[in-house]
Amino acid sequence: MEEVIEVAAIEIGYDRLKAEQMQVISKFVEGNDVFAMLPTGFGKSLCYLCLPIVFDMLQDNFRQEDLSIIVIVTPLTALIKDQVCASTVKGLVSGCICGDDEDDHAMKQSVVDGKKRIKGLVIDEAHTLKQWGSTFQPILLRVEELRSLMPENIKVMALTATATHSLRLELSKLIGMRDPVTVLLPPCKGNLPYEVLRYYSIEENFIPMLKELQVMRTAYPRTIVYCQRIEDCCDLYQFFEANLGRDFTEPIGAPSLSWFRMVDMFTSCTDVDVKNHIISSFTKPSILQIVFATVAFGMSIDSPDVRAVIHLGPPHDVESYIQETGCAGRDGLPSKATWLTKRSSFVDADMKDFYEFTTDCRRHLLFKKMEGYDRNIHRKHLTNICCDVCALRKK
Ligand SMILES: [Zn+2]
Repeated sequence: MEEVIEVAAIEIGYDRLKAEQMQVISKFVEGNDVFAMLPTGFGKSLCYLCLPIVFDMLQDNFRQEDLSIIVIVTPLTALIKDQVCASTVKGLVSGCICGDDEDDHAMKQSVVDGKKRIKGLVIDEAHTLKQWGSTFQPILLRVEELRSLMPENIKVMALTATATHSLRLELSKLIGMRDPVTVLLPPCKGNLPYEVLRYYSIEENFIPMLKELQVMRTAYPRTIVYCQRIEDCCDLYQFFEANLGRDFTEPIGAPSLSWFRMVDMFTSCTDVDVKNHIISSFTKPSILQIVFATVAFGMSIDSPDVRAVIHLGPPHDVESYIQETGCAGRDGLPSKATWLTKRSSFVDADMKDFYEFTTDCRRHLLFKKMEGYDRNIHRKHLTNICCDVCALRKK
């Protein structure tokens, strides 16, 4: 079995599998439901991308018309489309049903026609099911129903980067998982210190950043500013555009088109071409240094060198916050997570603890309820300052 998995991974371009990836794939293929919690940037997508090839290779007398199908549920349309592109590049036959495409009907029909070939159901970014399902995507709460429409013995794989013990149990129930094997590697980014600062106004909080960008230009450390509201993204973008003037673009004075901008904005209202340009610019060396974004952006990028993640306004909950800040420092180099709190911020009890309870380490407050968390192990992994509270204590 392990050899088959290794061959499948090589076929789609991965030359080495990590132990946890191997465990997730092999337990699933052996016929178990699997709940995997693996840190952001660990390589979760490999766990399902290689499945069709593994199932094909394990079939006796395999014929081309028996090609295995894996159904993947992902919360965001932008993310789904990215994954279709990525898997097509890797040589897999893939398509999507997004609810807004004319092609949906044909794709639905081909899934129904190939029902017998469906070998697995994968729920990616599983931590979003509950929160997003109960707000703007109620269909996410019906994944168990989806399972019931599939062949009897179908297995489910749920993947996430962050989940508390109670959320994991809740999600397993929501998805209808049966006695799942759990593979847990708690998120631990020793290169990412956390700090909380009071938000006063765009001028007060962002002028230093603007001035630094003006001096450093394309050497400015890559930064994502997450806003809870599209209006905040627009205000920040306009503030930078107006105050930087000709310095807003590279080269200086170039027209304000997305491929000349050092600063851009990514929200549900952003034009698709601009979105694609931003995503691809952020995943390779480019002139784009700062993006003001709503949360959709973080899930669409796979950028190794984001040095700072700033939240303007409250993250939804601990899981989202860990996930969103996890975009920073994927290459392991020193990075930073900053939360600018507004006086009126409404947050859940755990996030409140994180920003109000200022005598204990923020890292500890953030991770204490995470599955598999161990304060001492976390400390051992620190390659950077821990948090603003610990830094003050050291002085
Ligand atoms: Zn600390």
